Amino acid sequence: MSVAEANTTSEGGRDFIRDIIAADLAAGHCREVVTRFPPEPNGYLHLGHAKSIFLNFGLARDYGGVCHLRFDDTNPEKESQEYVDAITESVKWLGFDWGQHLYFASNYFDTMYAGAESLIQSGHAYVDSLSADEMRTHRGTLTEAGKDSPYRSRSIAENLDLFRKMRAGEFPDGAHVLRAKIDMASPNINLRDPAIYRIKRAHHHNTGDTWCIYPMYTYAHPIEDAIEHITHSICTLEFEDQRPFYDWLLDKLADGGFFTRPLPQQIEFARLNLTYVVLSKRKLIQLVDDKHVSGWDDPRLPTLAGARRRGYTAEGLKRFTDQIGVSKSDGWIDYSVFEACQRDGLNDTALRRIAVLDPVKLIIDNYPEGQSEDCFAPNHPQQPDLGKRTVPLSRELWIEREDFMETPSKGYFRLFPGNSVRLRYGYVITCTGCDKDADGTITAVHCDYLPDTKSGTPGSDSVKVKGNIHWVSAAHAIETEVRLYDRLFSTAQPGSESGDFLLDLNADSVKVIRAQLEPALKDAAPEQSFQFERHGYFVADRVDTKPGVPVFNRTVTLKDSWVKMEK
Ligand code: ATP
Ligand code: MG
Repeated sequence: MSVAEANTTSEGGRDFIRDIIAADLAAGHCREVVTRFPPEPNGYLHLGHAKSIFLNFGLARDYGGVCHLRFDDTNPEKESQEYVDAITESVKWLGFDWGQHLYFASNYFDTMYAGAESLIQSGHAYVDSLSADEMRTHRGTLTEAGKDSPYRSRSIAENLDLFRKMRAGEFPDGAHVLRAKIDMASPNINLRDPAIYRIKRAHHHNTGDTWCIYPMYTYAHPIEDAIEHITHSICTLEFEDQRPFYDWLLDKLADGGFFTRPLPQQIEFARLNLTYVVLSKRKLIQLVDDKHVSGWDDPRLPTLAGARRRGYTAEGLKRFTDQIGVSKSDGWIDYSVFEACQRDGLNDTALRRIAVLDPVKLIIDNYPEGQSEDCFAPNHPQQPDLGKRTVPLSRELWIEREDFMETPSKGYFRLFPGNSVRLRYGYVITCTGCDKDADGTITAVHCDYLPDTKSGTPGSDSVKVKGNIHWVSAAHAIETEVRLYDRLFSTAQPGSESGDFLLDLNADSVKVIRAQLEPALKDAAPEQSFQFERHGYFVADRVDTKPGVPVFNRTVTLKDSWVKMEK
């Protein structure tokens, strides 16, 4: 594909990474764009990863290239098959397909090992036998140069022999490390002879007990990229200081004939920081392990599994990442921006339905007992082609408790004795009073209806009313569990003040209620989203919804109620 063609297919708009790629293609530095998304399977993916996934897979799509899904599983601790499966499922959910390009970094252990021998042989790596503490003091500081280890001058033959013995398991954990031989006085601490292999007897989820030495991440990652002929290796800004080592390593390996040029180039972009959530695997693991949430897919978590269960859509996530764009400057994105993108997407696609979340009975005293009739409600007001559904009306209805006030406050237009409102899609009614129990709690509201005012019939709007309330017929309603989710944290940057993010957990992040729903919701399919009129967007829970028995999660309210609360 030509650069011109590539540009016209770019959906995400221009950004500095696309500029680099377009220039590389134009200059012939690469023929095909090859990117990768390289999660470590030590946790579930979160919203930050989605930014990286849309970027990497999006670039491959826009430039007619490929994007690899690579599990960066070189660290035997904390990695597991459960995480591999969850990550695979989330990337698919976002709509991406890596085709045959699924890789595991642990399958490259042999090559990584051979690369290390090649570095030793070219005099660019040595086995160091300082203790961890000694190594730390030799490293120096940001302002002071480091000191050479006494083992730095070992001969190539001795280094090779020791490294082979490390691999053969002849030394205890931590007895030696293999280090790159670069410059202990470099102003960039990452170039002061970084460790590239360590001895660690640990069982690996893929390679079992084959290895007792493991490569360090900063050594493994560039090699993984080079093996896969990645052209643009995109990572977050904190790796900027590692780029000189990335380039040094691949350069030395290419000089030794181990890799051929052109080599991958590392490009850094700003990670996503989102208010009111934590996007760190360590913190997410803590929330799950300590049972602050119900599991990795708890709808309050910013994991992709949680987002999916919450009813956020992949389309809304794409909208969000397109909107925030890609740059090199770190900043915080307000959670309301994310929610607005979800609302925009759901507004287009979610069918409208009626649900009464805090029900109280409304009795139409002049409506015949045992009778019912059909009312008709549009499935989507802006999309008439989606048609209408039947909503049955009868003598007893459920309405929201807050839609009645015995003594109305100023400016209250809904039900109070003597006032008239319209039952949405039905009749105008006039409130006549209410029943109360011994405690004064309202148990039923009474009204009369005006027979000539049914919505959709000629002259139905001859009676003008200010209020318009939703309802469901008590005889036809289905009662079900609805979970009202709110933000998991009550502060924008959890832990920023106290140092402990757990202290900022929102104690009211979920409220479980029994709601009365219109009968059309009975057969909601798992993961089907609806707008519950006046309430927000809700999804049939993908885990707990059973045929004919939906359970709903609130995805997002209709408006940004949080902003109002804060003011
Ligand atoms: P940790 O949470 O421990 O920092 P990680 O999120 O970096 O780990 P990885 O599995 O290494 O975990 O991430 C895979 C890819 O996702 C990396 O390329 C990383 O740059 C990217 N990524 C991770 N977090 C974010 C984020 N907040 N914004 C954008 N990209 C991210
Ligand atoms: Mg990482």
